[in-house]
Amino acid sequence: MNFESDTICAIATAMSDAGIGIIRISGSDAISICDKIYLNASHKHDLKLHDSNTIKFGYVCDFSDNILDEVMISVMKAPHTYTKEDVVEINTHGGVLILNNTINLLLKAGCRLAEPGEFTKRAFLNGRIDLTKAEAVMDIISAQNDFALKSSESQLSGSLFNAIKTLRESIIYEMAFIESALDDPENYSLEGYDEKLDGVIDKICSKISELIGSADEGIIRKNGISTVIIGKPNAGKSSLLNILAGEERAIVTDIAGTTRDIIRETIRLDDIILNVIDTAGIRNTDDVIEKIGVDKAKNYAMESELILYIIDSTTDLTSDDLEILELIKNKKTIILLNKSDLDSDYINEDILYNKYNLDKSVPIIRTSMLNNQGIEDLKKSISLLFFNGDVVPKQELYITNTRHKEALKNSFDSLQLVKQSIADGLSEDFYAVDLMNAYTFLGNIIGAEVGDDLVEEIFSKFCMGK
Ligand code: GDP
Repeated sequence: MNFESDTICAIATAMSDAGIGIIRISGSDAISICDKIYLNASHKHDLKLHDSNTIKFGYVCDFSDNILDEVMISVMKAPHTYTKEDVVEINTHGGVLILNNTINLLLKAGCRLAEPGEFTKRAFLNGRIDLTKAEAVMDIISAQNDFALKSSESQLSGSLFNAIKTLRESIIYEMAFIESALDDPENYSLEGYDEKLDGVIDKICSKISELIGSADEGIIRKNGISTVIIGKPNAGKSSLLNILAGEERAIVTDIAGTTRDIIRETIRLDDIILNVIDTAGIRNTDDVIEKIGVDKAKNYAMESELILYIIDSTTDLTSDDLEILELIKNKKTIILLNKSDLDSDYINEDILYNKYNLDKSVPIIRTSMLNNQGIEDLKKSISLLFFNGDVVPKQELYITNTRHKEALKNSFDSLQLVKQSIADGLSEDFYAVDLMNAYTFLGNIIGAEVGDDLVEEIFSKFCMGK
């Protein structure tokens, strides 16, 4: 069995009752296989006669021509298709049973069930898209906010690919030059080249740094900020979670310590995503179940990117609070001074900053979960902490993927080694290896085959006539 040349099929839409459901088939036998289970409006098998990029009415049928469903069928012929192979899409009615029955017929007729992502993988392997575009397709599908969607759409249109390509071209130009000069010293002089190369590398590194610099913001804008809501029992943690989630999910009661289980929730505040873990509250207790919650709360607080610490402003701080105040040192924290509707001033900003020596950079917001007060300030505060207050993303291109960030870092490090070799006065041979590494790391981002284009570049551009 040749894995890549199998004709594959899959249900491309969600498996739930819906108006229509789409089955996608790709491979060299897509049309002939589908022809076995498709009848046109006149009950004839004629799929092979359909022009490319057309959609027609007909029926899905079994091998005895018994009709299963009325369908619309599209034929898209290679190479101008998603996978660069022949592709057929069958729009059946969107019932789970009809979709499954149609898939089973296709399997019997000669298709293999596609693996997850296999259509896009074929698009990549067949050279229609690079890796960044393949990843963008996946990101578009899973986008949770406008930022994620926009940045994935831009990546799909080639923004990242083009940036990486430009950087690689600069590097390969230098590699090719060195190679040519070593091969053909009469025509290519390396006189004063070190200095020039040093300058070129600085420029490339500054662009790479810019991209790396966008990654922290890009990744959390896209995936969300891991957040812990912490505070002693009855401070208002569940109430906050309810307000943020916009629904009555957590149980809110006034018996201390009721919210024992850890609750995870993905919350969207405008375009900010918070991946919230609501904890059972930090409280010194002998209660075994609650202790699990307490320990977990501490661990989650350590691992999270943002701590929302709720203080009940109507009661004095307790040892629980002192423990939390210790815990939040050097963590991005926002303090919510809750129950402000009760006009109690047991705890206020002055007491926290001056009596308890809270770091002045930790923002304190007065809130009332009862009156929904302070939530707008909370949003502003989060965007200040993480995005310099820019609710709307400022840059054109963001790195939103840790794989890309790592590859960029590796490439940057390799280029720094070249600079080091230049500073150490080593010969050009030494640069070549690190330049090649920098080039390869960038190539990993787009999934490029390094060997081929390196060879082509050197021989087509520089070694004229040789
Ligand atoms: P948790 O134990 O920290 O999760 O606290 P809860 O969210 O369960 O709240 C404990 C009690 O305080 C409940 O009776 C809430 O209705 C009440 N509560 C929470 N926030 C406020 C607030 O801002 N103002 C007032 N007056 N009551 C609040």
